[in-house]
Amino acid sequence: MNKHLKQLIELSELDKTLDDFLPEEERVNGALNALTEEQNRAKRQIEETEAVIAENRAKIVKHEAHLAEQSDRLAQRSKKSGDLKTEREVKALSLEEDIAREQVSFINEEIARLQNIEDEQKAKIDKLKTRIIEIESQVGEAKKQNSDALAALNEKRSAVAAQKEKLVAEIPQKVFGFYTRIRRWAGARVVVPVKKQACYGCFMKISDKVYSEVIASQEIVTCPSCGCILYVKEDEKVEDTKAAA
Ligand SMILES: [Zn+2]
Repeated sequence: MNKHLKQLIELSELDKTLDDFLPEEERVNGALNALTEEQNRAKRQIEETEAVIAENRAKIVKHEAHLAEQSDRLAQRSKKSGDLKTEREVKALSLEEDIAREQVSFINEEIARLQNIEDEQKAKIDKLKTRIIEIESQVGEAKKQNSDALAALNEKRSAVAAQKEKLVAEIPQKVFGFYTRIRRWAGARVVVPVKKQACYGCFMKISDKVYSEVIASQEIVTCPSCGCILYVKEDEKVEDTKAAA
């Protein structure tokens, strides 16, 4: 096998291993991120609930002012009642008083309803605050666990990175540049195996001519369809030769 092809296969394996550290790191950080997110959500909910309470409070204040006004009017009317002469005047005043009393009772009910809402919202805030404190202690615990797991992960990653650095130093600049250009768009699939005469990057069948070049592996051959570097594993070569015979 072409020496450089062999190096690129190895390099591609190392790059794949390095790529795989990222999701692993995200998994380690996942629990901590979820806690932080929940904490932020709870803080936002508290702010929203406080806004609801303030709005409610303003309504209660308005109703209370209205209530004081109505009570004043009722008091004045009952003072007037002594000066009334005709039956008609008495009737009219009593009707006015009935309406005013009805309004007072309606306003009282409304205030009670709003105060109920306020109590509920305050209880909600208390619950959220308790949860935030709980999360804070969980965050501390998760951070401690993460730092151990991440340290172990970084140690493994450094070892692979060192291995890659050593290998890259052995690969000619031109070959490495070629590899890097393909990696830019192919990601982890720079060097892919050929199985049953199909490219395992794009799963297209390759022509007999290209296939024989890949089997010979004297040169670095790329897939005519997707541009990935192709190689045939040794055991696959034996299988294919058997099939051809
Ligand atoms: Zn392909």
